[in-house]
Amino acid sequence: MKLIDLHTHSTASDGVLTPALVARAAAEAGLAAVALTDHDTTEGLAEFLSAAQPGGPELVPGVELSVARPGGGSIHLLGLWVDPGEPRLEKGLERVQQARRERNPKMVARLREMGVEIAMEEVEAAAGGGQVGRPHFAQVLVDKGVVHNLGEAFGRYLKRGAPAYVEKQRLEPGEAMALIRGAGGVTVLAHPGLLELHPLVLEKLVAGLKDLGLMGIEAYYSEHKPSQERQLLGLAARLGLAVSGGSDFHGANKPGIRLGAGQGTLRVPAALLAGLKQARDTLAR
Ligand code: AMP
Ligand code: FE
Ligand code: FE
Ligand code: ZN
Repeated sequence: MKLIDLHTHSTASDGVLTPALVARAAAEAGLAAVALTDHDTTEGLAEFLSAAQPGGPELVPGVELSVARPGGGSIHLLGLWVDPGEPRLEKGLERVQQARRERNPKMVARLREMGVEIAMEEVEAAAGGGQVGRPHFAQVLVDKGVVHNLGEAFGRYLKRGAPAYVEKQRLEPGEAMALIRGAGGVTVLAHPGLLELHPLVLEKLVAGLKDLGLMGIEAYYSEHKPSQERQLLGLAARLGLAVSGGSDFHGANKPGIRLGAGQGTLRVPAALLAGLKQARDTLAR
């Protein structure tokens, strides 16, 4: 069975490999397709697409947006096959990036109040010029010996509800989906299993998102249990949504998650591409 991976991150956000190296790693893993879906940016897509090779994997330009969840909290929305330079999408992303720039110094200040010697420049250096996110804060905390590993950095300081966590302003779901669809992309709810909702609550949420333009759900995901995968495949079938799947590969920033293989048992069938492309091509642009 041919396999694909439609959820990965590069140095343009909080991944470790450059966009070109993500494409190359997918070729080495023998994948039929790979999508680059960096957080809140399309910055890496030009380099990613230029790494295409004859006989290599199909390269899918994507993005992952943090979106306000109706009723509180947040959800992640993937846009697959977005047109990287599309002006309205870029404008929307600039707003989100601005929100990150406002949030990051606040997190530095929280950490300093807690007695952690850390400077914004160090976090920016860890991000290497791409979008700054909490994994970069985590990396600095590990490098300074404040914590032993990335998991401890999130657990003690950075996870939602922890002392250094600061909310960032998010796009509304309808707005985010309009941006993705306007750029020619397919809208996919990322890792629904991580929301840890009762199946009926999740179904209601997904049905509501479908009304706002949702076209697919990521049923196959590194951290979904087999029972969740089955539940989500059933949900997609009932609601008439396309199915997607990916590892959420970040390189060493998410240890234990391998491209195309997740924690070792992830298998995303290439046959899913047909349904996703059908959704893409029915778009009114
Ligand atoms: P941000 O977009 O800056 O809020 O950072 C979110 C990113 O942090 C996610 O995409 C993950 O890569 C990472 N992350 C979030 N929670 C955790 C956690 N508990 N442990 C490790 N990484 C996490
Ligand atoms: Fe991430
Ligand atoms: Fe995500
Ligand atoms: Zn992701």
